[in-house]
Amino acid sequence: MGTRVNKPVVLVFAGHDPSGGAGLQADIEALAAHGCHAATVVTALTVQDTHNVTAFEPMPAALIVAQTQALLADLPIAAVKIGMIGSPENAQAIAILLQTLQRRNGRHIPVVLDPVLVAGGGMALSSAALQHIMLTELLPLTTLLTPNSPESRALAPAADTLAACAQSLLANGCQHVLITGGHEPGPAIISHLYAAHQEMARHSWPRLPGEFHGSGCTLASSITALLAHGADIGNAVHTALAYTWQTLEHARTPGRGQAIPDRFFWAAGDHPSRTP
Ligand code: PLP
Repeated sequence: MGTRVNKPVVLVFAGHDPSGGAGLQADIEALAAHGCHAATVVTALTVQDTHNVTAFEPMPAALIVAQTQALLADLPIAAVKIGMIGSPENAQAIAILLQTLQRRNGRHIPVVLDPVLVAGGGMALSSAALQHIMLTELLPLTTLLTPNSPESRALAPAADTLAACAQSLLANGCQHVLITGGHEPGPAIISHLYAAHQEMARHSWPRLPGEFHGSGCTLASSITALLAHGADIGNAVHTALAYTWQTLEHARTPGRGQAIPDRFFWAAGDHPSRTP
């Protein structure tokens, strides 16, 4: 009857993955799993299965603006998560919309940017022009950037180590960088959280066998949800890595490609107690 306390609203900019593994659906599931309400602006439609993306179509930037303005006029935004952007024009539009949002709001709203450059199967989901706007216009508005190691090297090509990549990205204006280690060799996945001139934390999780579709989206959305609930960056990253690891441990392989994280792993669906 409208007397319940509202859930924090997370504004999401992301592409749609019809396989349900990554993109918007991953974000909605992870945010819902953390007790947040996802307000979703579609940036691109993709053609893909659980193996790879074969095509995508960015939404027109004017539609990104119209979708977002409708939400900003209506909903109190607690945090923002950005995934696949689709085009340089969309990146530019999102930068202007974020500036408007921060200007209107009394306190700073956390912004998590997951730089989606390439699909797990190898197809490019961004361009040099889009990456340029990401670096120059979006990073100065970003609270936390969450690249994996190939994305870090692509965005900071002059840096010779991952720590140097992080400092180069921080010099572009984002406040924190979390470099995830899933693409690096070894039995453990080691992720590093950096702020300017310092490594804030290092997290190690045992590597699980197999390949996953939507793990980066799950992690970035989980962190955003925790920030929306008021957690600080260090705790949000720590807790979200643990949550994401469990979604991967419970992942299913419904198709012929990569496994999909179970973002509601505690409601596992095996239903031993289900009555016939
Ligand atoms: N967003 C969309 C729409 C995608 O299609 C993909 C990958 O194909 C991603 C994000 C990134 O997925 P991941 O979390 O596996 O890096």
